[in-house]
Amino acid sequence: MNIRENAPLQPATGTSPPVAEVVHDQRGRPLRDLRISVTDRCNFRCPYCMPRAVFGSGYPYLKRAELLSFEEIIRIVRIFTGLGVRKIRLTGGEPLLRQDLHKLVAQLAELPGIELALTTNGALLGQQARALKAAGLDRVTVSLDALDDPTFRAMNDVDFPVAGVLEGIEAALAAGLAPLKINMVVKRGTNDHAVLPMARHFRNSGIMLRFIEYMDVGNANGWRLEDVVPSAELTALIGNEFPIEPVSPAYPGEVAERWRYRDGAGEIGFISSVTKAFCGDCNRLRLSIEGALFTCLFAHQGHDLRTLLRSGADDAALASDLRALWQAREDRYSELRGRTGIPLRKIEMSYIGG
Ligand code: SAM
Ligand code: SF4
Ligand code: SF4
Repeated sequence: MNIRENAPLQPATGTSPPVAEVVHDQRGRPLRDLRISVTDRCNFRCPYCMPRAVFGSGYPYLKRAELLSFEEIIRIVRIFTGLGVRKIRLTGGEPLLRQDLHKLVAQLAELPGIELALTTNGALLGQQARALKAAGLDRVTVSLDALDDPTFRAMNDVDFPVAGVLEGIEAALAAGLAPLKINMVVKRGTNDHAVLPMARHFRNSGIMLRFIEYMDVGNANGWRLEDVVPSAELTALIGNEFPIEPVSPAYPGEVAERWRYRDGAGEIGFISSVTKAFCGDCNRLRLSIEGALFTCLFAHQGHDLRTLLRSGADDAALASDLRALWQAREDRYSELRGRTGIPLRKIEMSYIGG
């Protein structure tokens, strides 16, 4: 469904507030985008996210009773639509590992005024794309870090072949999950040689390839600044082979900086969290699998919503809690990165949702 930015929301259904208000934080940023982590588990072990040494056997993954149920997620989302949320992204961990995910999608798709997207590593997309589309999923973003098997198998660290992800992408397109985006995290010395082959492959495909700077999210990945390949380096590299020019953002708060091939072969994007902070427009809130809310990807502490939810609080009390949380928000970690006094312990991305 197409959502016009800043268009008034339709009245929410059920017991949520009837007309959406727009809630602003301390820096004047409206709440628009809710990312929901539906599982902390993953079938990949990407070293920049869930390195095997930390997330291998013995890692204390959450138990089923600790996870928010679909009913709880729906209730929270319904209340958020009354507070101005228009976009929901299901993520994780690997969201396609959550049992019966299509049933959650079907219930979310019934809520009015919501654009519903999903980020996945693509390994199970071939099996699930049709059911997800039929359930009402609008769009999908697939992560793919290289096109050559040795590099990709090393990047996912479970020996998963590129062909499996490409099949998932084909299945998503065939099911009508378009426009489709691809996320490629670029880590120096690991897959930076795969940038040009990826750019060449996805030119003229109608798929938008986005290059993500390797981020210092969580504590498990042993992040070092020297492993980051700045987007400026990538625009120069790609522009040297295919002339490109910048494109204006499609809407305020768009995370990726968009560029287009001058010969009409399509667009690419750059997500430059490290070298070009975009906190100024950040309208994203994250809901962890166990019902903690994080107002920043780099937060070290969440806001426990599950306890309130399970204490019998009514929708008005929950809405008031959520409104107050957003109104108190001041986060701008990426703008402050490197300064002293910011917390060193951060939450892992697989828990909080990428
Ligand atoms: N498992 C799904 C996937 O990989 O698409 C969804 C969750 S994953 C945490 C969401 C996105 O975060 C992926 O595109 C992934 O590449 C990206 N990501 C994970 N760790 C990152 C890091 N340290 N820096 C930049 N992006 C990262
Ligand atoms: Fe799994 Fe996605 Fe993290 Fe890779 S980036 S380990 S696929 S959650
Ligand atoms: Fe938003 Fe935090 Fe990322 Fe800044 S660092 S863009 S506030 S999530």
